[in-house]
Amino acid sequence: MSNDFDFNEPTKKFKKIDFSKTYYSPSEGNNTVRIVDGKGKKFLAHYVVCQTPKGPKKSFVRCVGAGCPVCQQGEVKPSNRYYLKIFDRASGSIRVWEFGSQVKTQLDDIRDEVKKESEQSGVEDSWLNYQIVVKLRPKGSNPLYIITKGEKLTPEVPSKKAILDNDKKLIEQDEIDIEFLAKPWTLEKVNYKLYGPSTETTPTDTPTTPPSATPKSTPKEEVKSEGDSWLDD
Ligand SMILES: [Zn+2]
Repeated sequence: MSNDFDFNEPTKKFKKIDFSKTYYSPSEGNNTVRIVDGKGKKFLAHYVVCQTPKGPKKSFVRCVGAGCPVCQQGEVKPSNRYYLKIFDRASGSIRVWEFGSQVKTQLDDIRDEVKKESEQSGVEDSWLNYQIVVKLRPKGSNPLYIITKGEKLTPEVPSKKAILDNDKKLIEQDEIDIEFLAKPWTLEKVNYKLYGPSTETTPTDTPTTPPSATPKSTPKEEVKSEGDSWLDD
């Protein structure tokens, strides 16, 4: 499915990803998710965007790093974005959650807290055993998201075991390749997004940033390449 879409080939004819069935889009208020246990497969990917300056409306490109035409204009700093696979309880499916550093920091805190409690109590535990509550606050709020640890899914409780069993099935059926989704753009692609088609390129289908991928806040911190730290677990 999503593998048919190649971010790096603006000139190629390709099928469009069904964004509504791939990306997570929380509703205002409380939403429940659980982080997918990658079991060796990547479940978190990291990329960098920069906001194009002073366009008619906010627009983002994926930073290509050195030689990035947006960064070279000197008006913007690139910011970290992340893709994380989650079980979306509202849709009952695995989705890709796209977020920035504010959410990443809160998730890191939950992960660290569970780890610390586990070490202190000597009872083996992981943040992957918990539901995660994603609270989307009204538009313009800062922070826009408040992420908290939800209930523990203990297999001893039949209703919770049912959830865990169903999650296992979802993982078996899951085909979303988030590394692929998070591939950096080529310079050609960035230029296309900024300036439109050059004379040689005639894209039939312009890949656009999914609605949920529009950063709702502008993180000001420096970009660090620490996004893959969860992958080592
Ligand atoms: Zn850039």
